[in-house]
Amino acid sequence: MIIAIDGPAGVGKSTLAKALAEKLGLLYLNSGLFYRGVTYMALKNGVNLESPPAIIRLAETLEFSLSREGLLVSGRLLSSKELQNDEVEQWVSPISSLVPIRHIVNKNLTKIGRNTDLVAEGRDITTVVFPQAEVKIYLDASLDARAARRFHQGTSQKTLAELKKTLAERDEMDKNKAEGRLQIAPEALYFDTSDLTIDEVCEKVMSVIEKK
Ligand code: C5P
Repeated sequence: MIIAIDGPAGVGKSTLAKALAEKLGLLYLNSGLFYRGVTYMALKNGVNLESPPAIIRLAETLEFSLSREGLLVSGRLLSSKELQNDEVEQWVSPISSLVPIRHIVNKNLTKIGRNTDLVAEGRDITTVVFPQAEVKIYLDASLDARAARRFHQGTSQKTLAELKKTLAERDEMDKNKAEGRLQIAPEALYFDTSDLTIDEVCEKVMSVIEKK
């Protein structure tokens, strides 16, 4: 079984996906981490981030695998501190807009999903990566609610106002990609989480899954 979840940054996808994976005994797959992994490796290797060919050349050499501890890129386990820092946050959206990068990531994601039951989250999971998913969910929330959640996560040095601006810019880029742009799949269950706790969303989704 594949449960696919899409939605903008800071909407609670990871919390929901992890909770569902735990309850149902499925693998948890965070596709954003793959794009962050490419971005982190590009930064670490001093690749010119204004040069798509240089980023694509690097990405072609990377190997991705998932362990219980998290994402390994070319054998190195990347910590959430490395993957969530402000520099990665700034570059991940433009880098994930590069179509060849999306193809590299998608190849890895579909390979993992071929033989494994999972809960996967991202931006194009319900539409491009796993269009065959049995359950599709689109999570939404206001920009204010999402910025406040990110602020309280404590992974950023930015002020609430700066975080709000960065999220708005990322939303704009994510909705306007040549391929894999953020959109609501017609058959997706839509939840606005601005005024819901993640437990309430989880309960609603579980009741739909149990009916299936
Ligand atoms: O989910 P997360 O915020 O960690 O993703 C980081 C970035 O990676 C997003 O802003 C988006 O630009 C990109 N992404 C994507 N497609 C996905 C998952 C993430 O383009 N399936």
